Amino acid sequence: MTRPTREARIDLSAIRHNIASLRSATAPARVMVVVKAGAYGHGAIEVARAAVDAGTDWLGVVDVSEALALRDAGITAPVLAWLHGTETDFAPAIAAGIDIGVSSLGQLESVAAAVTDTSGNAPFASVHLKLDTGLGRNGIEESQCAAVFARAYELEREGRVRIRGIFSHLANAGEDEDLEQVRRFEALVDQATAAGLTPELRHLAATAGALRVPSSRYDLVRLGIGVYGLSPFDDTTSAALGLRPVMELSAEIVSVKRVPAGSGVSYGFTYRTDAETTLVLVPLGYADGIPRHASSRGPVFINGKTYRVSGRIAMDQFVVDIGQDTAVVGDRAVLFGDPATGVPAADDWATAADTINYEIVTRIGPRVTRTYTS
Ligand SMILES: *Cc1c(COP(=O)(O)O)cnc(C)c1O
Repeated sequence: MTRPTREARIDLSAIRHNIASLRSATAPARVMVVVKAGAYGHGAIEVARAAVDAGTDWLGVVDVSEALALRDAGITAPVLAWLHGTETDFAPAIAAGIDIGVSSLGQLESVAAAVTDTSGNAPFASVHLKLDTGLGRNGIEESQCAAVFARAYELEREGRVRIRGIFSHLANAGEDEDLEQVRRFEALVDQATAAGLTPELRHLAATAGALRVPSSRYDLVRLGIGVYGLSPFDDTTSAALGLRPVMELSAEIVSVKRVPAGSGVSYGFTYRTDAETTLVLVPLGYADGIPRHASSRGPVFINGKTYRVSGRIAMDQFVVDIGQDTAVVGDRAVLFGDPATGVPAADDWATAADTINYEIVTRIGPRVTRTYTS
C-alpha cells in the first residue's frame, strides 16, 4: 500500500500497551482515558475504541460536542465532559448518558433545568462536581462549595441530578503543592459528604499525579499524555516509564536538489549552504502544526541519519541540508516517533520549539493523514 504524502501513523497496539502499563502502576484505581482534542491529535474515535478494547472504564473529553461525537460513533462507554460554554445545551448530553462536570452553581442550575421529566422514567443528569483546590482554573471555588453542595443535595432529592463524582486537577507545581491540593480535596469531599452527597467516584490525578503522587489516585485516574506514550515529566523519558510513543510523523521527500556553496535557503536566508550540497524538501509546515519556532533546530530522520531543519519552517514546507549524503524523491523524512526505533522523539521537537510534547502532537493538523496499525 502506498503511504500518504504526510502521515501520522498511530500504533494502536502501543495505546493498549500504555493503558495496561499505567493501569498496573495505578491499580486498584479505575482508569479514564482522556480523548479530548481529537485524542491529542491521534484521532478521538479510533483511540477511544482501542481504549475501550483495552478495558478502559471511562473516557474523558472537554465538551458536550466531543462527547456526542463518541456516541455518534457508537461508543457506549461512560464519558465525562468537563468544560462548557455559557450557551451549552445539556439536554442532548443527558439523553446520551454523558456525565457532566460542573464548575459553578450557575452551571449546576443549567444542567438541572435541562432535566424536564423527573418522573423517574427519563434519565436524570449524572454530575461530577469539579472543585478548584488550588490550580486557579475552572472549578468551584472553596468559598462557593457549601452553597453548591446544599443545592446539589436538593436537586438530587428532586430526582434531577445524581452527584456521581467529585473531582479536581493538580497544578504539578511540586510535591508540597500537590500534597496541599490532596489535603484540600479531602477536606472538601468530607464537606460534601456531610452535606448529604454520596459521590462514588473521587478523582484528582492526571498522568503525572497518577505516577508520582499515589495519594492522589482515589477511585479513578484520568490519563492523557501517558496513554499516548509520552512522559509528563521533564526529567524522565517515556521509555523509563515503560511507555511507547504512539504517533510517528513523517512525510515523503518531494524534491531533491544539488546546490552550490553560498545558496540561501527558505525565507529570510537565515541558512546558507557553506559548500556544494544536497537540499531535500519536506512538505510539512506550520499549517500542519510543525512549530516555526523550531526553524533551524527541529530534528529530521532521513535514511538512517538525523539532520536539522535548515532555515525557516514555512506554512507548507521546510528544507533539510543533507550534505554529501544521498536521498531520492519519495524517501521518507521522519520528524518524530518512538526513539527506540532510532528516530527523534516528540520531546526533541518540544525542546527545539521551547514547548512541551503535549503541544507537539496535539497541534498536528488535518492535512496530515492519520493511519492506524492495530
Ligand atoms: C487534559 C486533562 C487530563 C489529562 O492530563 P494528562 O496530563 O494528559 O494525563 C486529566 N484531567 C483533566 C481535567 C484534563 O483537562
